Amino acid sequence: MYCGRFAPSPTGPLHFGSLVAATASYLDARAQRGQWLLRMEDTDHTRCRPHYADEILSTLSAFGFVWDEPVIVQSERSALYDAAIAQLGPRVYHCTCSRREIATLAAQNESRYPGICRNGCDPAKPVRALRLAVEDPAISDDFILFSTTGKIYSYQLAVVVDDEAQGITHVVRGADLLSSTPRQQYLQRLLGYRTLQYLHLPLATGPDGTKLSKQNLAPALDTASSTTLLVQALEFLQQQPEENLARQSLANIWAWAIANWRPERLRRYS
Ligand SMILES: [Zn+2]
Repeated sequence: MYCGRFAPSPTGPLHFGSLVAATASYLDARAQRGQWLLRMEDTDHTRCRPHYADEILSTLSAFGFVWDEPVIVQSERSALYDAAIAQLGPRVYHCTCSRREIATLAAQNESRYPGICRNGCDPAKPVRALRLAVEDPAISDDFILFSTTGKIYSYQLAVVVDDEAQGITHVVRGADLLSSTPRQQYLQRLLGYRTLQYLHLPLATGPDGTKLSKQNLAPALDTASSTTLLVQALEFLQQQPEENLARQSLANIWAWAIANWRPERLRRYS
């Protein structure tokens, strides 16, 4: 059974790029009579705010999205992430490097993190992170599983654990996350999880050509214009919505979009 998901971070309101990602994952799931689940990716408590989580859910409802199970909230799932780190055993090591030390060494080694602490670190220095010793040439660094300094589980770890726990089979997301996929697949293999199918989407950009994001203050979705924006998202996804579709009800637009979903019209990234 197909099971897809949308996993926003409550660091700000949803914008047009979020709508494109949510719409594509929703259509891919519904067109295959699959389930569609929601997850709040709020492990970074320094950037996430609960009121944005509420706002995101009410915006999704206003656009006519329907999810099949209660929303999963990552900040409540630390025990699961700790268990996964424990399962990885001796592949996990303590890193005491500061950001500045890593930046200097990474520049010299053309790698994001050249494994400085892999064979032991200075016991006099505080542990800043738990890293994974990666034995895969396709992945250029020993990426972080947990930031000890900030008490933050990494995006890669939390996503992999939750995709498995939620029974996700298909991931549809923006091409900005393309480089995360090999890391997540590597973790899935180490943890003995199932293999997922991935579809990466073209990114919506602003007038200056940069990716729409909460960080560059992309405008929040206006729920009063839900039908117009949803049809614009379908156009962005190359679905060739029929003329005057935006004048129809949300329910009719969704019915048309599910019946006419053609993911092969999207540019392939992997
Ligand atoms: Zn280190």
